[in-house]
Amino acid sequence: MTWTISNPELSQQALLNMESIFALGNGYLGVRGNFEEGYGEDMSTIRGTYLNAFHDVIEIPYGEKLFAFPDTQQKLVNHIDAQSVLIYLGDEKEPFRLDHGTIISFERRLFMDKGYSERIVHWRSPEDKEIKLTFRRLVSFTHRELFALHVRIEPVNYNGQVRIVSTVNGKVKNYTNPNDPRVGAGHAERMTVTETGVKGSDAYVVDETMASKLRAACVTRHRLDADADVQLENGAGEVTYTATLSLTGPIGFTKYNLYTDSLRHGQDMIERGIQLQESLKELSFEDLLAEQTEYLNDYWKSADVVIQNDDQLQEGIRFNLFQLLQSAGRDKHSNISAKGLSGEGYEGHYFWDTEIYMFPVFLMTQPDIARQLLLYRYSTLEQARARAREMGHRQGALFPWRTISGTECSSFFPSGTAQYHISADIAYSYIQYHLAEQDQDFLLSYGAEVLIETARLWADIGHYYNGAFHIDEVTGPDEYTCCVNNNYYTNVMAKHNLKWAAKSCSILKSYDAHGFQSLRDRLGVTEDEISAWAKAAEAMLLPYDEALGINPQDDTFLRKAVWDFENTPEDKYPLLLNYHPLTIYRYQVCKQADTVLAHFLLEDEQSYETIQRSYEYYEGITTHDSSLSSCIFSIMASKIGSMDKAYEYFIETARLDLDNTHGNTKDGLHMANMGGTWMSIVYGFAGMRLKESGLSLSPAIPKDWEKYAFRLNFRGRLIGVSIEKDGVTLEIVEGDAIEIKLYNEAVTLKAGQPVQKSLAK
Ligand code: BGC
Repeated sequence: MTWTISNPELSQQALLNMESIFALGNGYLGVRGNFEEGYGEDMSTIRGTYLNAFHDVIEIPYGEKLFAFPDTQQKLVNHIDAQSVLIYLGDEKEPFRLDHGTIISFERRLFMDKGYSERIVHWRSPEDKEIKLTFRRLVSFTHRELFALHVRIEPVNYNGQVRIVSTVNGKVKNYTNPNDPRVGAGHAERMTVTETGVKGSDAYVVDETMASKLRAACVTRHRLDADADVQLENGAGEVTYTATLSLTGPIGFTKYNLYTDSLRHGQDMIERGIQLQESLKELSFEDLLAEQTEYLNDYWKSADVVIQNDDQLQEGIRFNLFQLLQSAGRDKHSNISAKGLSGEGYEGHYFWDTEIYMFPVFLMTQPDIARQLLLYRYSTLEQARARAREMGHRQGALFPWRTISGTECSSFFPSGTAQYHISADIAYSYIQYHLAEQDQDFLLSYGAEVLIETARLWADIGHYYNGAFHIDEVTGPDEYTCCVNNNYYTNVMAKHNLKWAAKSCSILKSYDAHGFQSLRDRLGVTEDEISAWAKAAEAMLLPYDEALGINPQDDTFLRKAVWDFENTPEDKYPLLLNYHPLTIYRYQVCKQADTVLAHFLLEDEQSYETIQRSYEYYEGITTHDSSLSSCIFSIMASKIGSMDKAYEYFIETARLDLDNTHGNTKDGLHMANMGGTWMSIVYGFAGMRLKESGLSLSPAIPKDWEKYAFRLNFRGRLIGVSIEKDGVTLEIVEGDAIEIKLYNEAVTLKAGQPVQKSLAK
């Protein structure tokens, strides 16, 4: 049961949310869970099909444009729509629609172990014709271009003529909401149809974006397992397939839609689509389902998290892990957008969300995907160098706050470009990858260059004052306090970045002196420079307040008045939608974890007591208006032994989209939070950490749980971790023996020899 999301609600709000929740994807292609037949006139819908990274370029309109504000931004475009299938009964062509006739029964399910969704409708037409329809759809994990849709039509009291009309429609638009900055304003129509046609039994439509001139095609083949009179018609901007048949028993109809694009398939997209159709011609829908299940068996083998005796949470965590898999880009063009491939919120942009919230899940369950995410950032390094120059830095690389193709897309710099920390976050993920995989060749080919170029940025932006290294005029993760000096988070992450740039040079010098020398020559790295990074790291100012015994968020944070929480009504949250930014900036109020997050990522920089006091202080002034917040508070509550709190925060994350607790699931799923659920369990309850000293665990268990279990994919081993009230069991599921730490003591795990220990009190 916990492998299946089921929701039969048909209210407007539920349907919009379900479009995101039932979205299917494979990292390349994503299709929202829209109804094939459409909706009634009075219903709104966000009908969407997306190709990861497939975008248009749009001018950013400014009232006052200052130097180095980006001129343009990228926007994920809504793609050719192949979801439509209309079914007409009888001569008078009564269309099947849920706003006509009578719904006798309606079921809708998403199978997370099998990778498909299903909708079963028993329906009576206004003329009393009764049929049962089963719609099943999948976006294939093994054939990345494929979105397949199967419809079974079963007569109940009606035997007679049926007409199936299926379209592939290139006239598509994006969704916009001018009142919500999280959903793009304007720019709805970005695609023009350049070609439609029919080749043999394939229908094709080609679209082109208005400005970026990217092109994409959908090549569709229909299969019907009944005799019918079939026509394929080339229309204006769409191709229509019509089959007319006599319904005497159940029939099956399948639509194989193959999406190709000029980013990945070159210019012969129609040909490539047809070739791919040919390669699939022996595969029935049932075969495709079997392949999906096999792929997912493999995924769940390393990624599943089991929570015993709590079906709601179990369903929540599986849903989140399933959606992460569906959203992660697997090529150099793509990453994971803030909403995955489930909606248009944040315009399909990639943020630090990837490195800090989602990358860790992949690193410890699917390291190949983690590596691919790093390679995407590497492929944008040249643009990050150019952006640093544009921003006045003599050296280094500044990664964009939000982007698709690598250039800065943020038009509001205080909570955009000013978030320089993204460069350190990216560096952090390379360091974590190194600690997990110890892949020196990767460090030599990619990692070191990223660490060096980001360290150079810090060396350039920072300066010495009274012997300490300062970083001025940046914004930390908390977007309710912008453009400050010495943001604790930024400084401590930059320190780590600088330290590791120097360290990676010495690692590589001993690993491959020749290889390292050519990297040095290419980047012009000098010994003085390496020492300057180490020195700046050493001298980095980490603000500390003696009176409170905490790390202030920045130099002036604690001098501000505390926000008047008592007199702020519930309906004024999120504050960003109800107050001018300047009002918010004037107070001590946090949208999300900032210093608390830094204490999680780099916990050895402060004493336990400082971390604890800081947690308590910031908890009192954080609104969690961002969905990136609760998981971090959960992890840190676990760290300071406040398990009830940790559990409360965890609950906020686990079903955030399933229960629409942030009220905007319709715009797409909150992917960072989804990674955060896993992190709350693995880093939080189970106390996992990955440091230079290796992998360690310090497990505890929430009092409402009997047992939870998960696996870690670490250096080619699959390690099983199972935690019950009376103890923890670690075992090697696959691979050779390895030493890790359990409650700070070294333990050697060997195949067939589980290690058990009581939980620390
Ligand atoms: C958060 C950012 C995040 C962005 C995209 C904002 O609300 O404050 O930290 O990167 O959403 O998820």
